[in-house]
Amino acid sequence: MSNPPANLPTVQRRGLMLVLSSPSGAGKSTIARALLERDPDIAMSVSATTRPPRPGEVDGKDYHFVSVEKFQQMVAAGQFLEHAKVFDNYYGTPKQPVEDALASGRDVLFDIDWQGTQQLGDNARDDLVTVFILPPSVEELERRLRGRAQDSDEVVQKRMAKAGDEMSHWFEYQYVLLNTEVDRSIARVQAILDAERLRRRRQVGMADFVNGLRGQ
Ligand code: 5GP
Repeated sequence: MSNPPANLPTVQRRGLMLVLSSPSGAGKSTIARALLERDPDIAMSVSATTRPPRPGEVDGKDYHFVSVEKFQQMVAAGQFLEHAKVFDNYYGTPKQPVEDALASGRDVLFDIDWQGTQQLGDNARDDLVTVFILPPSVEELERRLRGRAQDSDEVVQKRMAKAGDEMSHWFEYQYVLLNTEVDRSIARVQAILDAERLRRRRQVGMADFVNGLRGQ
């Protein structure tokens, strides 16, 4: 195999916002984790929430765990890009880290619900790529929720009841996939990301690059 040329050209690109939504237990977190491990150009948006941490969850990594008072202060100070009440708790996306990542040409991955996705759509439509992930069956959804073994029976029941509502929003997303086999789903989301990165409008440095190719 021959070596690649020494000075590989790079074309400046505008970062995109990749939203993954699904009912709890459809496998979204596994897909998100795999994308982050494989791709250094993606940053995860760490949400703030008023829900208590589950065993193993780390403050500042999985979520910023905050009190209701603190959350309300952040809302009042305009620090969220979007925020919503999901189940009985508040969740929100801090604005500043997202803006920093996009400005430095990185993409940002969001694990947020349909309410947050709608709000982002109102504010940042051009930067947004939305993917809805469906479980292959109701039985499989319940199995995954129970297998997680972190939530009480009551919480699992509540999430199952909510799943139907959440899934009714699949129609609002640009891409929809069934998570039957997780490796396949990861490859599909990666393919979506690869294609979306190549959209002409995101390749903001392309005009200069082409002018250079043409000797202008
Ligand atoms: P969980 O409590 O299982 O971590 O998350 C519950 C739901 O809240 C999931 O559907 C998740 O996508 C959503 N969620 C997490 N963070 C945010 C956020 O910052 N904004 C919105 N709108 N939803 C969020």
